[in-house]
Amino acid sequence: MEIVLQVVFALIFGVSAWLATRKFLAIRKNIFLGRKEDLTDQPGRRWKHMALFALGQKKMFKKPLPAVLHLFIYVSFVIVNIEVLEIIVDGISGSHRFFAPYLGGFYTFMISVIELLSLLALIATFAFLWRRNVMKLKRLNQPELKGWPFKDANFILLMEIILVTAILTMNATDFRLQQLGAAHYHSTGNLLVAQYTSNLFLGMGTDTLIAIERTAWWIHIVGILFFLNYIPYSKHLHIILAFPNSYYVRFMDKGKMENMPVIMNEVKTMLDPAAQVTAIENPPAAFGAKDVTDLTWKHLMDAYSCTECGRCTAACPANITGKLLSPRKIMMDTRDRLEEVGNNLKVNGPDFKDNKSLLGDYISVEEIRACTTCNACVEECPVNINPLSIILELRRYTIMEQSNAPQEWNMMFNNMENNQAPWQFNPADRLNWKSEV
Ligand code: SF4
Ligand code: SF4
Repeated sequence: MEIVLQVVFALIFGVSAWLATRKFLAIRKNIFLGRKEDLTDQPGRRWKHMALFALGQKKMFKKPLPAVLHLFIYVSFVIVNIEVLEIIVDGISGSHRFFAPYLGGFYTFMISVIELLSLLALIATFAFLWRRNVMKLKRLNQPELKGWPFKDANFILLMEIILVTAILTMNATDFRLQQLGAAHYHSTGNLLVAQYTSNLFLGMGTDTLIAIERTAWWIHIVGILFFLNYIPYSKHLHIILAFPNSYYVRFMDKGKMENMPVIMNEVKTMLDPAAQVTAIENPPAAFGAKDVTDLTWKHLMDAYSCTECGRCTAACPANITGKLLSPRKIMMDTRDRLEEVGNNLKVNGPDFKDNKSLLGDYISVEEIRACTTCNACVEECPVNINPLSIILELRRYTIMEQSNAPQEWNMMFNNMENNQAPWQFNPADRLNWKSEV
């Protein structure tokens, strides 16, 4: 019987790992459908940035309560993987608590820490469910979250409750079995939580306890493997991509916009025909972006890294004043369109065109025109996403490729071109005000 269970476990583990790897590689391939962008300079600064923002969650602590609750879930998720590793070793080898005899007192300490974090994560999970479903926080109940995104967030929280309950039940029954001297149940020492929760199982026989302990063990590991395969389809992909996304951040001064080198050269020579300009190798075939493949790979990784937390939208002046624009929706639309393009290419071959595009079919001109380029969304994002950069690329396309701009903007552009300022004054008259002082 034991060998059958080991084979079943190995099969479930192998198939889950294969499916997850396949999907993660598909996501990587989708990300590299984007244009090239070199973000490999200053590696030391990048590692530091990643440690502070992805591992240290620096920006999360602008709002302490959700930050602490999130920290419980996050640290618990990271630390619990030590116990998952042991479960995998046990599942394949048929052992039970493989590390316990080797680690002794440290094992007791380690599992106790996992139990404590799991308990705190359980409390945090209920608090998050409450905020989302009972308090109905505005940023967690906006139009772009209707349907699947809302269900996804709740589903993940419910999954976390199941996983944590399973691990606490497993440890409690295991501890009780140790007290009863059941065969194969090594002493783990006094586990911080299980020494108390095991009392819930007082009076049960050894067979019943083993059945509960084994059931909780299987629920936990099958749940983890299911979770691994669910992550790439969910906003929870950020638990992995937050790290590379923080590493490959664009180190730009706050508020500075990425100029288009070809246009910059034109402007420089317009202002000063003798200006020295650097020749541009491979100038772009079109300005701005119409679809996801016109964006860079970093834009696309940003889209996959979005946690859908809505901090950007909550700070966006356009959204706050009732405009259609939501920077969170910009990121969600970019990811959805990228998934669509990736699937189309996979199914229909590399030359397939579906005659759809990010601009128009997902994001409207009205949305991108509402952006004030204030940078608040960039400043707020806890995982270093830059929705503004995508908005600017889409807007550049509408203006420079489609000549699609409101009359007021066109007047301003003409003035910039003719008067080197947004106003309708001749540059020679600019200092006339001095004579009136
Ligand atoms: S930069 Fe644009 S999208 Fe971002 S917060 Fe400001 S107005 Fe909103
Ligand atoms: S872009 Fe950043 S702030 Fe906005 S929803 Fe996504 S993760 Fe949150």
